[in-house]
Amino acid sequence: MNNFFRRLSLPVKLLLLILFPLALIIYLAIGIYSEKSKKVELLEGYIDRINESADISDLINALQIERRHSFAYGLKKDIDSRAQLEAQRPGTDLAIKRLEQRNDSTLKNFKDYTFLKNLENIRKAIDSGASQDVAMQYYTTTIFRLNTLNTIVPIGNNRYLKPVFNDLITQKTLSEMATYLGIIRANFYNVLHTKQNMVGTLYGLAGVNEIYKSYETEFQAKASPSSLVQYKNIRNNTALKPTLDYIGRVFQKFSFDSLYDAEDWWKISGEGTDQLKNFQQDLMRHVKTRINEVYKDEVFGKDLTLILLIAALVIVLIVMAYTTYIITQMLRGLNEAAQKIAAGSTNVEVKKVSHDVMGSLAESISKIAAKNKQLAEAADAIGKGNFNVPFDPRGEDDVLGNAIIRMKDNLRRFTMEIEKTREQFRQVADSAPVMIWMTDENKQCNFVNKEWLKFTGRKKEQEMGYGWIEGMHPDDYSHSSEVFEDAFIERKGYSLEYRFRREDGEYMWLSETGAPRYSAEGEFEGYIGTCIDIHEMKLHEQRRDDFIKMASHELKTPVTSIKGYVQLLLSMFKDYEKNKQQFSPQAIQISLSTIDKQIVKLNRLMSELLDLSRIDSGKLELNMQNFDLQNLVIETVEDIQQTTKHHIVIQTNADCKVLGDKDRIGQVMLNLLTNAIKYSPRTNSIKVTIYQAAENSISVSVADHGIGIEKKHHQKIFERFYRVDGKSEQTYPGFGIGLFIANEIIHRHNGTISVKSEKDKGSVFTFTLPVSSEN
Ligand code: ADP
Repeated sequence: MNNFFRRLSLPVKLLLLILFPLALIIYLAIGIYSEKSKKVELLEGYIDRINESADISDLINALQIERRHSFAYGLKKDIDSRAQLEAQRPGTDLAIKRLEQRNDSTLKNFKDYTFLKNLENIRKAIDSGASQDVAMQYYTTTIFRLNTLNTIVPIGNNRYLKPVFNDLITQKTLSEMATYLGIIRANFYNVLHTKQNMVGTLYGLAGVNEIYKSYETEFQAKASPSSLVQYKNIRNNTALKPTLDYIGRVFQKFSFDSLYDAEDWWKISGEGTDQLKNFQQDLMRHVKTRINEVYKDEVFGKDLTLILLIAALVIVLIVMAYTTYIITQMLRGLNEAAQKIAAGSTNVEVKKVSHDVMGSLAESISKIAAKNKQLAEAADAIGKGNFNVPFDPRGEDDVLGNAIIRMKDNLRRFTMEIEKTREQFRQVADSAPVMIWMTDENKQCNFVNKEWLKFTGRKKEQEMGYGWIEGMHPDDYSHSSEVFEDAFIERKGYSLEYRFRREDGEYMWLSETGAPRYSAEGEFEGYIGTCIDIHEMKLHEQRRDDFIKMASHELKTPVTSIKGYVQLLLSMFKDYEKNKQQFSPQAIQISLSTIDKQIVKLNRLMSELLDLSRIDSGKLELNMQNFDLQNLVIETVEDIQQTTKHHIVIQTNADCKVLGDKDRIGQVMLNLLTNAIKYSPRTNSIKVTIYQAAENSISVSVADHGIGIEKKHHQKIFERFYRVDGKSEQTYPGFGIGLFIANEIIHRHNGTISVKSEKDKGSVFTFTLPVSSEN
C-alpha cells in the first residue's frame, strides 16, 4: 500500500490528498442542503396549513355574514335582508368551493361532518319562511364544527413558526371571539326586535358571554404587545366599545335598556363584530406575510447553500489544480536543475521561493551547484597550473573535494618535476656550446638556447614562431625550407648547411641537424635540432680548394717553362751543323739559367709541400744546434739580395746565439724576406732589424712598405692555406702555406711570430726566439 502510494504520480497523490477533505466538505454541504430543504418543505407544509386555516377562517366569516343576514331575514322577512342574503350566499359558496379545491386529506369530505351538506336545505327552509332560530342554530353549529378543523395550533417551541406563533394563536382566539360575539348580538337583536323572552334569552346567553370573556382573557394573555395595543385601540375607539359595553350592561342589569332599538344594535354590533373579524384577518394576513418572508429567507438560504457548495467545490478544484501546477512547476524546475548538474553543467540557478521542504531542496540544489561550480573552477584553475587557488573540501565525507585536493597536490608535484626537468634541459641547452632550437607541431619555433641568442645577438621573442627565418641568407632559404619540409612530412631526421646572420651582420655557415620529438605518449610534438658554426671549416675547405688550384698552377708554370727551354735546346742541338752560326754559348747559358731558376722554384715549392705534409704527420724534425742568429740573418739577406732589385737594409742591435735548427730558421727568414719583396711591388726598401726583445729572447723583424694587411687577417695569415682576399692580393702567386710553416717552426722553437701591419702602409713581421744558454 505504502509502495503503491509512493509510485503514484504527484498530481494523483495531491488529488488523493484533497479527495477526502473534499468528500467530507461535499457530504457536510449536502447534509446542510438537505436540512435546509427539509426546513423549506416543513415551512411549505406550515404555509399550506396556514393558507388552509385562512380559507377555513374565510368560510367561517362568510358563514357568519350569511348567518347574520339569514337571521335578519328570518326575523324580518324584508327585502333589504333578503337582498343582503342573496348577495352573501355566492360568497359563502365560493369560500366552500375554495376549501374543497384544496384537496387536502385533512379536509376530506369535510362537508359531510361540518353540516355544510345541509346548507342548501337550510337556505331553502329560510327562503320558505323558517324562523331566525333555525338559521342561528344551523350556522352557529356549522361554524363551531368548522372551527374544530381550524387546528393550526403550532407547538410552542417550533422554531420555524416562532415569528408568527403569537399571531397564529391570537387570530384563532379572535375568530372564536367573533363567533361568540355574533351569537350574542344576534340573540340581542332578536330580543330587541321581538321584545319577547328577554330574560330567558339572557339566561341562555350568559354562558356564551362567559366563553367570550374567557377568550378575551386568553387573547390578552397570549397576544403580542403590538396586538394588545391594536386590540385596545379597537376595543376603546371603534364600534366594538359600545357593543361590548352594552352587552356588559345588559348582563349586569340582566335586562335590556332602551339605548338601542333593534336596528341600531344590529348596525353597531355588526360593526363591532367586524372590527374583531378585520383584526383577525389582519393578523392572519400578517402571519401569512411573515411566514412567506421566513419561507423566502429559507429558500434563499437553501439556494445560497447550493451556490456556496458549488463555489466551494470550484474554488477547491481551482486551488488544487493551481497548487498541483505550482508544485509540479517547482519540482520540474528542481528536476531540470538536478539534470543540468547531472549533465555536468555548473551554470545552474535555483531560487529558494518557499520556506518548506521544496525550498530546502532548492537551497540544497543551489548549494550543490555552487559547490560544483567551485569544484569546477578549482579544477580548471589547477588544470591551468594555478595551485594557489583557494579551495577546501567540505569535510571528510567530501570524496570529490578531497580527490581534487589530492589531484592538486599530485599535479603540483608533477608540474614541479616537469618544471625541474625543463629547467635542467634549459640549463643543459644553455650551457651547450652549440645552438639548440625546438619547434612545435606546427613548425613554429618555441625554444632557442643562449648560444643561439649569443650568435644572432637578438632577443628570444624575436626568434619565436617564424622570426628566426629573418637571419637566414636569402640564397639559402628556398633549399633549406625544402629539406625541412620533406623531413617534416615524413617525420624524419635531416641535416643541412646554410648561411646565417651573426650579431655583427656577417653571414656564417651553419650545419643544422634536426630530429622529430615525441611526448611520452608517442605524440608528435615538433622538431629539436642543433646548429654548429662550420664557417671556418667551410673557409678552410675553400682555401684548400684554392690551394690545390694554385699549387697545380704554380707547379705547372715552371715545368712548362723548363719544358720550353729544354725543347729549344734540343732543337738547337738536333741540327747542330746547320745552326752552328746561331749557336751561341750566351743563349745556352740564359736558357740553362732560366731552367735552373725554375727548378729552384719547383724545389722550394716541393719543399714547402713536403714540410706541410711533415707538419701534418708530426714528422717535422729539427736539427738543433747553437748558432749565431745575426750571421744567419746576414747570410740569408746577402743571398736574396742577389736575386732582387729591392734594397735590403740590416740593422742589428743584438748578437747572440740561439739553440735551434739553423736551416729551418733560415727558411723562416727567407719566407719573410720573399713575402716582403713579393707584397711590395711599388716600393723597394726593406728593413731587417735584429734586437733583444727581452732578457732571454732575441727578435728579428722584417719591415716593408708594401700593400699591408688589414687587422682582421693578422691572426689568420698564419693558418694553413690562408691568403688575404682582395683584388690586388689575387695577383700574387702563392699557396698560403709559407707563414703557416714559419709559425710551426718558430713555435717548435718555443718562440713567437707576429705581424704589425696596416692596409697600404706596409707590414712588419717579427719572430722572437729564446736565446741559447751558451751565450
Ligand atoms: P703565400 O705563398 O701566399 O705568400 P704565405 O703563407 O707566405 O703564403 O703568406 C700568407 C699571406 O699573407 C699571403 O698570401 C699574403 O696575403 C700575406 N702576406 C704575407 N706577407 C706579407 C707582406 N709582407 N705584405 C703583405 N701581405 C703579406
